[in-house]
Amino acid sequence: MKASGPGGFAAVPFRLFRFFRRPLSTEAADAELAARLRLREGRFLDVARRMFFREGSPYRRLLDRAGCEFADLEAIVNREGVETALERIAAEGVRISLDEYEGRRPIERPGLAFAVTPRDFENPSLPAFDLRVSGSSSGSAGPPKRFRYTLPLLAETAVNERLLLEAHGLVGVPRAHWYPTLPSLAGIGNLLSTARAGDPPRRWFSHFDPDSPSGSAALGLAVTLVIATARLAGRRLPRPQATSLADAPRVADWLRRSRDRHGRAALWTYASSAVRVARAAQEAGWDLSDCAIFTGGEPLTPTRARYIERTKARVFGRFVITETGAVAGGCPVPRRPGEMHLYRDRIAVICAGSSEVLPSPILLTTISTVAPMAFLNVDLGDSAVIGSAACGCRLGGAGLATTLGEVRNDRKFTAEGSTVAFRDLEAIVSRIVEEADGAPDQFQLWTREDASGLVRFGISLAPGLYDRIAPDLPNRIRADIAGLPGGETSARLWAQGSTISVIRGEARYSSRFKLTSPDVDEDSP
Ligand SMILES: [Zn+2]
Repeated sequence: MKASGPGGFAAVPFRLFRFFRRPLSTEAADAELAARLRLREGRFLDVARRMFFREGSPYRRLLDRAGCEFADLEAIVNREGVETALERIAAEGVRISLDEYEGRRPIERPGLAFAVTPRDFENPSLPAFDLRVSGSSSGSAGPPKRFRYTLPLLAETAVNERLLLEAHGLVGVPRAHWYPTLPSLAGIGNLLSTARAGDPPRRWFSHFDPDSPSGSAALGLAVTLVIATARLAGRRLPRPQATSLADAPRVADWLRRSRDRHGRAALWTYASSAVRVARAAQEAGWDLSDCAIFTGGEPLTPTRARYIERTKARVFGRFVITETGAVAGGCPVPRRPGEMHLYRDRIAVICAGSSEVLPSPILLTTISTVAPMAFLNVDLGDSAVIGSAACGCRLGGAGLATTLGEVRNDRKFTAEGSTVAFRDLEAIVSRIVEEADGAPDQFQLWTREDASGLVRFGISLAPGLYDRIAPDLPNRIRADIAGLPGGETSARLWAQGSTISVIRGEARYSSRFKLTSPDVDEDSP
């Protein structure tokens, strides 16, 4: 991951200065959201004309094949709305599977076949000169994918973040972020977006040490430059402070003390990091009442939610996808744990197939000219329960009437906020076993969620093989993960979290990914 090209970087300070000079008020955010929703159909059609129907776009070829011209799409959108139009064209094959998006499979429809790479789905209209933090998503294989977070994107999502904070009564309440600094995009992206929203965090705990010798000097400089520019513009932003997973007690202590001093406090972090904070609080006998914890990067499962709420903190979901930016924010009065309001001002979501089985696979479409990727009915492997019941909270009242619940991704393994596709994990372990002259029936992969909601990726090895490769296996797997595009973040977080475990045992199951279901894994150690 690189901070940016030299040309882009030279243009940064002035644009960044302006970005910080004009933070949002709630009134401005309300007005902007209302305008986006009022103009939603027109904005979607604008994106469709400029991106989806663009000559050379893979969507254009699918739309042509479906016999859908721009005027046809426009007519359906104006008559029946964006989602109905998306459902119609999805039924005609205008949709992209995860394998197609990742370039693992060509796009093949009756009468049409062509190869694609992830770059074909990039937003073609991103500004050439801007602050750009570019890099890969965490741990995906296939050709490297570059994502560019630009200031216009962060300004766009700042509207949603401001209203999320407002809906929870958290504007001005001390808040900490616990996200890794660069090369992960999570820390810098959330810092900039909430600074623009007029309410930056007071503290930035980083899973990575920003001053560690293994960190890149250029990346450290980029963060320093951002913070110094904010200072010039009169905004005080926290510097990242090295806080490994083992330092969770420090984060819990900050929450407790801030709450004691100010009446309330908040934390934004990954779901499993939040679990570690909750565990630290319980072990210390601290109660985290009047603390609000927002989790993302991983599903807020009922197990995790219950565990975190044992501290009397309240916990809510945030759904952010690197490819699109913020997708949804937690409802302050959720009917189920983790229920969120879709940011339908900038994203459209439809069911990918039968809606009989819940949660159902979803297709994502960007209604944004500044999202890193231009998505039209793209399946990233996520499933959710899409709801539309009227909600009396401030987000629902502002017109964000669509809710997403039980968001999860069955195609990828996620731990400590970092994701690797199951098939890549299987390929890595298979290769190591093969190199050790092991046979496919001598190992078994499994995943397991403990009582607090932390997950492990495990490998059972037959006894002979266990003796040969077990001691070094987690290190070798992490080294291979680090070699995947963007995999460095996963490898480092999973080392901190002891996410990979190896046990002695016979392979008992066989399945598509040679993986046991987490639900039937009760008798694993
Ligand atoms: Zn709500």
